[in-house]
Amino acid sequence: MAGRLAGKKALVTAAAQGIGEATARAFAAEGAEVVATDLNVEGLRPLEGTPGLVTRKLDVTQSGEVGALAAEVGAVGVLFNCAGFVHQGTILDCGEDDWDFTMDVNVKGMYRLIRAFLPAMIEAGGGSIVNMSSIASSLRGVPNRFAYTTSKGAVLGLTKAVAADFVGQGIRCNAICPGTVDTPSLEERMQAAGDVEKARAAFVARQPMGRLGRPEEIAALAVYRASDESAFVSGTAVSIAGGWSI
Ligand code: NAD
Repeated sequence: MAGRLAGKKALVTAAAQGIGEATARAFAAEGAEVVATDLNVEGLRPLEGTPGLVTRKLDVTQSGEVGALAAEVGAVGVLFNCAGFVHQGTILDCGEDDWDFTMDVNVKGMYRLIRAFLPAMIEAGGGSIVNMSSIASSLRGVPNRFAYTTSKGAVLGLTKAVAADFVGQGIRCNAICPGTVDTPSLEERMQAAGDVEKARAAFVARQPMGRLGRPEEIAALAVYRASDESAFVSGTAVSIAGGWSI
């Protein structure tokens, strides 16, 4: 199949919903051979049958699962580390368990995936790693997102470090920093707020463009980062945030 990712194998984490799902679909539509993963196996079902796409269970906090999948899948040309968790609250609301869980999913998950998949990627001559960060950390301090913002800042350091170490071996590593995107977990956060319409208005107001982002818009950026069109781009963190970064 022709497309900007034709001939590439791509692994996507957190593909059962939201940005990960949209990106897995976009990668497949661009001709990639996609391994779409998530800890929520039921959530992956709607993706099954998509041409060029297979699904696998993967919890990014489980080193054994990550290692087994790397052994099964072999070399990928694209690794999209999308899995992330939003802890709400300030540092005073963040117990050690909250801190540990957030860092385990949002940062150590990427460490595990990259450690497992990078050797074969290098062996195959190179590839593109795309890590999910956020406007929270890269450009903004966001109230009540202490652990989340800290973890997404760590993703930026991780991204730069990997980019620096392997730039001579054909490896590119970039971060994506979205503003507020209309995904199931955002919907849950709005529902949990009590006054859903007030919560929605507050999330919308963060973007000067006056709307939420769509998962497909973030997926389009991930396709560019994954494809050879961005072959001269590494170590960057690009915002996609409806003007929040102006
Ligand atoms: P979401 O929060 O709606 O869904 C998250 C998915 O991750 C779910 O399918 C869930 O099952 C999966 N997941 C959770 N823990 C996992 C684990 N340990 N291993 C594997 N999968 C796991 O998705 P979203 O809102 O599209 O967010 C995706 C990524 O984008 C996250 O890293 C998030 O921090 C980041 N992000 C989101 C927004 C936003 O406004 N939605 C903004 C900036 C960054």
